[in-house]
Amino acid sequence: GSNVTEKLSTPGKRARVRLAAVWGTKQNHASYPRKRSKPGLGHNPMERFRRNHLAVTQVCRQTWCELQVAYEYEIPHVLTSPETRAKMEAGVDIHLNRELELQEVVSVPVRSREDQQAVSFLNLLSMIPDLQAGLLVRELPVFGLLEGVFLTGVVDELRYDEKGELVLTDLKTRAANSLPDPAQAKGSSLQVRLYKLLFDSLVRGDLKRDHVITHLRLLPERALGKGVLEQAERLDLQVSTFGDLLDLLLLNLSYCELPPVDRLRLEYCHQGSGAAIGTQDVPFAEPQTREELRHYLSYWTGRREPRGVDIEEAWKCRDCQYKQHCEWKLGEAEYLEATAPKKTATD
Ligand code: SF4
Repeated sequence: GSNVTEKLSTPGKRARVRLAAVWGTKQNHASYPRKRSKPGLGHNPMERFRRNHLAVTQVCRQTWCELQVAYEYEIPHVLTSPETRAKMEAGVDIHLNRELELQEVVSVPVRSREDQQAVSFLNLLSMIPDLQAGLLVRELPVFGLLEGVFLTGVVDELRYDEKGELVLTDLKTRAANSLPDPAQAKGSSLQVRLYKLLFDSLVRGDLKRDHVITHLRLLPERALGKGVLEQAERLDLQVSTFGDLLDLLLLNLSYCELPPVDRLRLEYCHQGSGAAIGTQDVPFAEPQTREELRHYLSYWTGRREPRGVDIEEAWKCRDCQYKQHCEWKLGEAEYLEATAPKKTATD
């Protein structure tokens, strides 16, 4: 155990690499424990859309319009507009270029969901010693159980500032060369706050074996694929199954002695030119953040129906790809018609 922690604690001796899982042709879907479903009863969105975990970004998109997120699952045939796709691709390029300044991205062939999760564990395991050495890290995976739901995410950047405080930054690329308005910034603020909750609970050693196995429905006895084993060896890790690697990760996390995140920051840059627009600090309060999270998760766990936008924010519907299908939007049109002043013969 401590052997592994020692071996990993040698930053600088390794080339800085982030692994990216790439599905091979031979996939291994055998023998996953199946959840018994009870048709009609208890079918909440998590079960209906076969989600065993949620991405932090998915929860954050609910702050814009929850119904939009629900429609992505309910009517997936409605395609994203070419403009939205182009914006997303430009954002991905800027993120990747920034990452490549620091580390190489190496593809690892995976054949099972365990392999795929193992790649994320290896990335985290290789970044712990860098953080311990005070180095900057980018694209750090975070995950864990918050308010009963397993959440996953990738932190853009973690670094120590001149005061020695650990600063978590998320980079946002914008089509407009200006800072976002409050409605747009709401999701980004929740995103970095949830990343802090996940990172802090990882380095506190809160993640349990059972959280990963049960919530992600993975098999600890599954043998890791060749590509993953090669990368584990590069880090001097002696593992053969997914459970071995999970145990090593938990051990490293409980002895890592990394501090919690001190500051949260959003950094904006212009998509067209790549130039910096500005940064915003995000204040953090754990009780409020958890309360907001519980509110958004209560849709997924079936405790309430999804909500559309507030009437004062109906401007959001203008560019929404679901506006032709949206019951909320249609309801709003009826409401406006019903409340509009009636024309009379004298008008
Ligand atoms: Fe939400 Fe408006 Fe789109 Fe409906 S039309 S999903 S309320 S943004």
